[in-house]
Amino acid sequence: MNTTLIQFAYLVASVLFILGLRNLSSPRTASLGNQMAAVGMLIAIVATLLVQGVVDYPIVIAGIVVGSLIGVVAATRIQMTDMPQMVALLNGFGGAASVLVAGAEVSSRISANDIPQGIVPGALVASVLIGGVTLTGSLIAFAKLQELMRGAPIQYPAQQYINALIALATLGACVLLGMEPLDLELFAVLAGLALLLGVLLVIPIGGADMPVVIALLNSYSGLAACATGFVLDNSALVISGSLVGASGLILTNIMCNAMNRSLGNVLFGAFGARVEGASVAADGVDQGPVTAYTPMDAAVIFSNARSVIVVPGYGMAVAQAQHAVRELSDTLAGNGIEVNFAIHPVAGRMPGHMNVLLAEADVPYERLVEMDEINPQFPETDVALVLGANDVVNPAAREDETSPIYGMPILEVDRARHVFVIKRSMNPGFAGIQNPLFFKENTMMIFGDAKKVVIELNDAVKNY
Ligand code: NDP
Repeated sequence: MNTTLIQFAYLVASVLFILGLRNLSSPRTASLGNQMAAVGMLIAIVATLLVQGVVDYPIVIAGIVVGSLIGVVAATRIQMTDMPQMVALLNGFGGAASVLVAGAEVSSRISANDIPQGIVPGALVASVLIGGVTLTGSLIAFAKLQELMRGAPIQYPAQQYINALIALATLGACVLLGMEPLDLELFAVLAGLALLLGVLLVIPIGGADMPVVIALLNSYSGLAACATGFVLDNSALVISGSLVGASGLILTNIMCNAMNRSLGNVLFGAFGARVEGASVAADGVDQGPVTAYTPMDAAVIFSNARSVIVVPGYGMAVAQAQHAVRELSDTLAGNGIEVNFAIHPVAGRMPGHMNVLLAEADVPYERLVEMDEINPQFPETDVALVLGANDVVNPAAREDETSPIYGMPILEVDRARHVFVIKRSMNPGFAGIQNPLFFKENTMMIFGDAKKVVIELNDAVKNY
């Protein structure tokens, strides 16, 4: 196929990626954005397959069939609550692809005695390094989230020194491979070191910091693809890789702010242990009695309220209570009560988790209010309904300097006149720490599965 035509196809694909990303920034246009990006990817794949001499068609078709089958089965079977693990795994596959493509390029250049020039040696090194770190780092993140291994930070003596030593050795291998890009042994050494580094960087990170790690690994997988694009001189890969790399970094930054972590703190992996050590102290404190209500009791307060803010969290996702809560909000709105939904950036188990679930239940987008905008409204609100949220409404983040989540921005539900918390027990949330909110005078607990309780509450309000 004509090279100009292929470059033009790549240009169209890249424009579609950019427009797709732009549309993804609002739930209203997100599915259109997704479709645009998918069409862009189809164009890029077809154009690549038409480049003569690059591919062996039977093998490529076999790969597409097997990969698509695995992808379709995995994507349809995966529970919404397990999506972060899936994302981690997909990031890892992206990293693996970069290492493999770089390896294939080195061996084909060795056969052709074609010594890479210009930017290519550096891009080869970056593909192997970032791809390797992404692969094993993502597999560890997957294993932690899937509970195949302990979620708590794994630590051992002189960990930082050992990591620094391996990082130095990796840097050395990068320099050497950059000078001798067709040395397969050096390639294998760098790949091995990068794979080891990926494991070592993620194991000391505790479960509560996983959102940052996943966003960062997502960015890494994009950067690795971008480097591979330079190796293959493929502009579509360079552009799509940079888009993933840049958007992943932006997301990482948003996640860092939402969890009160600096990016430097994340990059050097020196956190995680703090969470485990301090949570024991927080749990040990006797916080006094809690007030338990039934949905019937709660209906009285709901029926007399003028404003209600629903604060969804991971428990809403587990219980699949989004449709029930939308019905409750319709009933309340029908009674003239103003109902809004407060969205914390790390509520649930993945960025945008609550937005996706509430959009699925047809909650109007304008009812979803971001943390900074809604926090000043709590003191004027009659009822805050905390639906399976815990860490993101924990006032210890504001009040208790010894708390592992001290400084994390929270939804300040405790400032509302009445707070109802729906959850099954007094068990802690993801960070593993107790929540003083449950013991406050204006807080009433309604114990039970979120969906069941919300349905009962809705019936009780209707019949009040
Ligand atoms: P939490 O994990 O803090 O709390 C969820 C609560 O939901 C639990 O206390 C649990 O209590 C309750 N729950 C679970 N199942 C049900 C059910 N069926 N019905 C009713 N309640 C239920 O969730 P948050 O959303 O408040 O906070 C998110 C946490 O996850 C933060 O620590 C964040 O850092 C972390 N995280 C966030 C990610 C993201 O990107 N959003 C990714 C990874 C981690 P009980 O067992 O008593 O019912």
